[in-house]
Amino acid sequence: MKNYMPKGRLTAEEYINGILEGDRVLLSRAITIIESNLESDKLLAKEIIQSILPNTGNSIRIGITGVPGVGKSTFIEAFGKHLISKGKKVAILSIDPTSQRSKGSILGDKTRMEELANLEDAYIRPSASGDTLGGVANKTGETVLLCEAAGYDVILIETVGVGQSETAVHGMTDFFLLLMLSGAGDELQGIKKGIMEMADMVVINKADGDNIRKSELAKRQYQNALHIFPPSESGWSPVVSTASAIENIGIETVWDEILKFKKLVTENGYFHKNRNHQQIKWMYNNINEALKNLFYGSKSIASQLKVLENEVVEAKISPVKAAQQIVDAFKKSF
Ligand code: GDP
Repeated sequence: MKNYMPKGRLTAEEYINGILEGDRVLLSRAITIIESNLESDKLLAKEIIQSILPNTGNSIRIGITGVPGVGKSTFIEAFGKHLISKGKKVAILSIDPTSQRSKGSILGDKTRMEELANLEDAYIRPSASGDTLGGVANKTGETVLLCEAAGYDVILIETVGVGQSETAVHGMTDFFLLLMLSGAGDELQGIKKGIMEMADMVVINKADGDNIRKSELAKRQYQNALHIFPPSESGWSPVVSTASAIENIGIETVWDEILKFKKLVTENGYFHKNRNHQQIKWMYNNINEALKNLFYGSKSIASQLKVLENEVVEAKISPVKAAQQIVDAFKKSF
């Protein structure tokens, strides 16, 4: 198996040059290498990432979440087109842990953003499928870097607002946007308080037709709700607005607010502080994951754990002592 190189792979340099020239085909092929679990691809991926690092970071990274049906794809299509009209190059990525099970990614179906997908300055990449959320987050994080090196200056990362993936997306973005609907309680929308707390902006979508009045009401309710949260370290107070993605109303406001946010956090230093913090956290997440795999992947540890489990159940040893004992045994094995 060693160093088996799949057919059609190019040299690292060819991918790197292609990405830096903004070649979308080579960008896509490089992302495929990032997503691959083959050992030879992992080596290639490391080399590509390492070389493009100096060309990364020059974008605003925006997380977008909301329950299925809230209008994320429709919103991203309208928002993406608006950004492109402003001269931006937009990359759209997603984290979708459910795709592991259903095999259907939220962005897999490109027809949902057909117009946007056809624009030269938009790059849409379906969610990486994966083993663990940590693994998927790694792949998405590295894909962000490749897109930045390819010249995309707005990166949108979409996620379904129901679980842990929001924390992962929040951990790799500068601005977190939550899409909501009027007339449905938070519980109904499956949005956890923690997700509300992460939001830099809440947009009440589908504010059109009979829904306009209800949306205005919801806007005030969310404004009140957000006031209860402690002020964010960024110095930014979350804003609430209404929009109709389908009628292209309120889209500009979202971008204007993001620009205001960017100005504030650049001036007060939070933008870079937060990015640095995210990089360090990313490293530690990987260390933690690697250590866990090392420990639980050891055959000797696995067999000792079985014995200890029984002893703990039979009250022969306390759980605390058992944990200490096995970690000590692990330390000695080096
Ligand atoms: P997602 O699952 O969050 O990506 O939601 P979609 O973008 O697929 O939208 C779900 C449904 O809501 C579709 O039928 C859309 O046409 C509709 N929709 C999206 N945005 C709006 C909007 O602003 N107003 C109205 N009335 N319908 C919308």
